[in-house]
Amino acid sequence: MKALQYRTIGAPPEVVGVPDPEPGPGQVLLKVTAAGVCHSDIAVMSWPAEGFPYELPLTLGHEGVGTVAALGAGVTGLREGDAVAVYGPWGCGTCAKCAEGKENYCLRAGKLGIHPPGLGRPGSMAEYLLVDDARHLVPLDGLDPVAAVPLTDAGLTPYHAIKQSLPKLGPGSTAVVIGSGGLGHVAIQLLRALTPARVVALDVSEEKLRLAREVGAHETVLSDAQAAAAVREITGGLGAEAVFDFVGVEPTVKTAGAVAAVEADVTLVGIGGAALPVGFGLLPFEVSVRAPYWGTRAELIEVLALARSGALSVHTETFSLDDAPLAYERLHAGAVNGRAVVLP
Ligand code: NAD
Ligand code: ZN
Ligand code: ZN
Repeated sequence: MKALQYRTIGAPPEVVGVPDPEPGPGQVLLKVTAAGVCHSDIAVMSWPAEGFPYELPLTLGHEGVGTVAALGAGVTGLREGDAVAVYGPWGCGTCAKCAEGKENYCLRAGKLGIHPPGLGRPGSMAEYLLVDDARHLVPLDGLDPVAAVPLTDAGLTPYHAIKQSLPKLGPGSTAVVIGSGGLGHVAIQLLRALTPARVVALDVSEEKLRLAREVGAHETVLSDAQAAAAVREITGGLGAEAVFDFVGVEPTVKTAGAVAAVEADVTLVGIGGAALPVGFGLLPFEVSVRAPYWGTRAELIEVLALARSGALSVHTETFSLDDAPLAYERLHAGAVNGRAVVLP
């Protein structure tokens, strides 16, 4: 089969031929119908050889949906042809966190060498994807594969982040979304669907701010050195009750801290590597700063349910598997508005 692989440190990913995977006991083979292109893959492909955490070649793609092509021995509850979404942050399935459905925070994944597809294990940018266990699969139940695939990360990750802050986002509150890209433009819609908060979106691109308004942002602000002052003014000088930074670089975490209200939540989702120091007098009183990873199995079920209700409309740009390297090039250049989706 064809697969998009990251093969050489620093080089672009390539479409290559690899053996067709076969499901072992307990595994499920999916014919991939859509695979999402995440900025985290670009981060992975920028890491140096020293300390690189995964084996190469690595088939990319940690957002995947597909139809069941074959079942390994002992798998029950699924049938060939079933359309499913893949819950990506695989865990051991049995530790205290996994028992709560928080496989993203599995206590044993590191020790057992368990990796998500596309981030250590062969991913969804291929004609077929081997899934380790049927519990990682959630029925699409009528959702369109292209519209649904970004929800497995670009939907699930902001959903998890926003859920933690729901108590802060009552009537009259403000939520700030920094970086209105793949994750950010879904975050805006989640905030509108789940809260009465006024949503202020920031980005460096006017085109992305246009999409932010289209999908429900009440206000948009160009993300520059004056952005924090502009957001403060929008909030009558008080700041925002919740700030979600989907970039995570020095200027954005600075803005995030500068627009936080007393008792605000600041959630750093972007993996730009910048720090927001917490300490008495550094931020308004009782600001909480968090850096979450992905989301829980239950939350993926909830995000897909929300999409079925019509509350989410993911903006997508599609590419063939042969053109997948171009999708990464465009994402790297900031040219993708919404989410790029590969159709293997
Ligand atoms: P994306 O490229 O689609 O979106 C990023 C957006 O940020 C773009 O619209 C870009 O124009 C904007 N941007 C860039 N610099 C900016 C700045 N200085 N101020 C404001 N906006 C700026 O990327 P994505 O796939 O949505 O991923 C967003 C981030 O989240 C990445 O860092 C990714 O690695 C990370 N991520 C984290 C998790 C997690 O579990 N923590 C999960 C998925 C993705
Ligand atoms: Zn991702
Ligand atoms: Zn576990």
